[in-house]
Amino acid sequence: MGRVGLQLRATLENITRLRAEGEDFRWYLKLKCGNCGEVSEKWQYLRLMDSAPLKGGRGSATMVQKCKLCSRENSIDILSQTIKPYNAEDSEKFKTIVEFECRGLEPVDFQPQAGFAAEGAESGTPFNDINLLEKAMGYRQRKFCLLNLNTGTETSLISGLE
Ligand SMILES: [Zn+2]
Repeated sequence: MGRVGLQLRATLENITRLRAEGEDFRWYLKLKCGNCGEVSEKWQYLRLMDSAPLKGGRGSATMVQKCKLCSRENSIDILSQTIKPYNAEDSEKFKTIVEFECRGLEPVDFQPQAGFAAEGAESGTPFNDINLLEKAMGYRQRKFCLLNLNTGTETSLISGLE
């Protein structure tokens, strides 16, 4: 388990600082129980603004969830300091844009949706609410993958947009 990084590779065109914007940005994930292997059917989202208490006064986590199958209480955290913009100079390369601290809940799939922001590479013009699920102005080809940072294994490769 441990840390899982979400990596992005994109071809940016005249934009830079492509990033997940704000405390309310929703990271849509499918989460797997590390105890029994059950994977959530629905997309679930994590937001920086969310916090739930852990049992027994052991602090809090972004999401605390009891597994439907094995009843284990699992949790996962967004590590806020790891959220990074994808810049013009990162174009064509995989870059980790966020890391999750996994305690029993591990992301196995990711769906980019609305809420990304960027700015013009030369002009600095802000672009808000970019939806990376669709083809949009400013980027070609984007692909995400999840990488277990402790073991170095790719846990999932999400199909890209060409
Ligand atoms: Zn389970």
